[in-house]
Amino acid sequence: MELWLTERETDHVLTKCRIDRTLYQGRSKYQHVAVVESREYGRMLVLDGIVQTSIRDEFIYHEMIAHVPLTIHPRPEKVLVIGAGDGGTIREVLKHPEVKRVCHVEIDEMVIEVSRQYFPELAGMLDDPRVEQHITDGIQYVKEQTAAFDAIIIDSSDPLGPAEGLFTEAFYGDAAKALKPDGIMVVQAGPPFYLPKLIRSIYRAIEKSFPTVRLYFASIPTYSAAPYAFVLASRRPLDDIAPRRELANLRYWTPEIHRAAFLVPPFLKEMLEIDG
Ligand code: SAM
Repeated sequence: MELWLTERETDHVLTKCRIDRTLYQGRSKYQHVAVVESREYGRMLVLDGIVQTSIRDEFIYHEMIAHVPLTIHPRPEKVLVIGAGDGGTIREVLKHPEVKRVCHVEIDEMVIEVSRQYFPELAGMLDDPRVEQHITDGIQYVKEQTAAFDAIIIDSSDPLGPAEGLFTEAFYGDAAKALKPDGIMVVQAGPPFYLPKLIRSIYRAIEKSFPTVRLYFASIPTYSAAPYAFVLASRRPLDDIAPRRELANLRYWTPEIHRAAFLVPPFLKEMLEIDG
């Protein structure tokens, strides 16, 4: 019998991938957590039926969500990462020698435990002494912070269940307050081709609290074939998005890819109703 994992991109589009076996299944207080072994992408973490990461292409997403904001920032010493229970983003953040402390705020301890067991390639750096872990709601945590961080990376699941409040104007306002004056925030924002309304709403909500908002893209096969968007916001007007530093031994991010990732094709500008 063939097993296929089916994921709903929109009400009218499904993507499928062949699964060899399910390695883990459980239900936390927040979501259904599964680990499956797939033919094409290797091991995958699946939350509430939505693929979160895969061994084969995780480096694209994690390098782009971490290195773009951190190489634009002049000196990112203190970084807040929200979500990211698989640990991949933390692993990339720690590659920056400037980073002295990473506050990691994940709501669901089960995601971390399962990732430690099934994804040691990603979760292996969660015990680094620079990482301070908080098992709590990122929305509440951010409310309580003022001018504390150089960068905030929101590596959350899609805007459903516990993550819904991470995509609101109120949350982005709190995130702006939690950043230092030259702080930078980045948000994963889904594939604009399929979810233009989501990206428009994230973009408009972030604009209320940040003078600079820019989109950048990467193609991540397990997150649908279409380019995937990240929204970058800065508390200071930002004329130059060029990286200030180089990083060695990466598999996706380079200074050239970084610059090119900010190019927005005309049909997307029109679809998203943005000028930049
Ligand atoms: N890269 C992934 C993607 O785009 O699909 C996201 C990876 S990571 C596993 C997402 C994490 O966000 C999940 O572990 C989930 O528990 C966490 N999360 C969701 N809502 C949260 C909240 N309000 N505060 C902190 N973490 C949250």
